[in-house]
Amino acid sequence: MNDRDSNPSGVAGARRTPHALMRRVDWDALTNEAADTLSRYVKIDSSHPRGRTVETAQLLAERLAEVGIESQVYQTGTEGKVNLVARLRAAEPVGKPLLLSSHMDVVQATAADWTFDPYSGEIADGYVYGRGALDDKGMGVMELMTMLVLRRLDVELRRDVILLCTCDEEIGSTLGAKWMVDNHFDDLNPAFMLDEGGTGRRGFFSVGDVFEVTVDEKRAVRLRMIARADPGHASQPWPEAATHRLVRAANALLDQPPEDRECAPVAEMLRRLGPQSRDEMASHRASAPLLHDTVSLTMMQGGYKINVIPEQAEMSFDCRLLPDTDERAFVSNLEQVINDPGVRLEVSWPNAASHTAPWDGELATALEQACVSQAPGSLVTPSICVGGTDARFFRERGVPAYGLVPGLFTAEDMKGYHGIDERLSLANLQLGCRIILDATLQVAARD
Ligand SMILES: [Zn+2]
Repeated sequence: MNDRDSNPSGVAGARRTPHALMRRVDWDALTNEAADTLSRYVKIDSSHPRGRTVETAQLLAERLAEVGIESQVYQTGTEGKVNLVARLRAAEPVGKPLLLSSHMDVVQATAADWTFDPYSGEIADGYVYGRGALDDKGMGVMELMTMLVLRRLDVELRRDVILLCTCDEEIGSTLGAKWMVDNHFDDLNPAFMLDEGGTGRRGFFSVGDVFEVTVDEKRAVRLRMIARADPGHASQPWPEAATHRLVRAANALLDQPPEDRECAPVAEMLRRLGPQSRDEMASHRASAPLLHDTVSLTMMQGGYKINVIPEQAEMSFDCRLLPDTDERAFVSNLEQVINDPGVRLEVSWPNAASHTAPWDGELATALEQACVSQAPGSLVTPSICVGGTDARFFRERGVPAYGLVPGLFTAEDMKGYHGIDERLSLANLQLGCRIILDATLQVAARD
């Protein structure tokens, strides 16, 4: 029996009390300040397709400047799209920096579908309302508050703490995290990073509140499936027509969903949450993909006239693979399932192999300790992100990257992610500020 078996949260030898400096923060005042900043942040429309971040970066730079923290705005060469970096320096650093990362861009909001103005930034009934409150401006404000508190309390650091706020995360990070890693990695070069990816979940598992800290994410394989055959008159259909064989191939794929399998972080998660949690995980649409590779049919195209069977038809599939899935074997299996020489697959492979962050690493331990001490009774577990985040570009450089937006969210709350009526409760805003500051103090403050 090791330490972890005797301790349900899995905190192995970590302090379970908050860092001493946490007591010096006036949390009511800080929560109000965070809510006010988030409100102003949400009011700035940084949605795609424009995805402008120059105005959001200006707001964050102003807030940092108020306490004397300089920030650098990186111009990407595309008008309006910038990334922001601010750094608190250690006098005599004993290790590489901690990187606190978030993205400033948001997905579009169709105002007609919302019950309130997506860019109102209203603070009412214990919530901050608007697009980005959850994804990812709330996280950005939690990390910003950590920077402000470190400066205001004049915390002596043993490693630098860097704040990174990116553009373009919602459209693949090309001018955001990827661009920063490709062009300015040396300005960051962190020991480890905190980004979005996981969350705390309330009401998902019978065992109680659970913080999922993501240590890796699924990799995307994109497929174009194309069927070609002679065209013909619609009055004389035949089985080898392009449209018909495409539909048969798609049915074959969708009728044989990939089998459930536990990758290492999910196996550890199930071990911590108990045997009943596997069924609970499988029963939610949001968590079921933790257990298998997924195949999603997302686009269909073909035909030009109702009475003509066309010579070509195609479909696109977005597939997300578990970190330990061999992508070549995955695609070759799909080809065998399709088993039709008239149907071919064009494959966009993922950039790089996955790099799972170690669960016994210093930042993971600090996050776990901070969650347990700030949300007593909660459980903390490694997990993987079923979507994609900025963190993958750092993981590809070997940086251990952890994903956690550290609030406790119900299924109802989670609907705001890329959905309608997005909002963040002040309770979760404060909890997130507490957890990120506590974890940061654990890994970056001189004792
Ligand atoms: Zn996001």
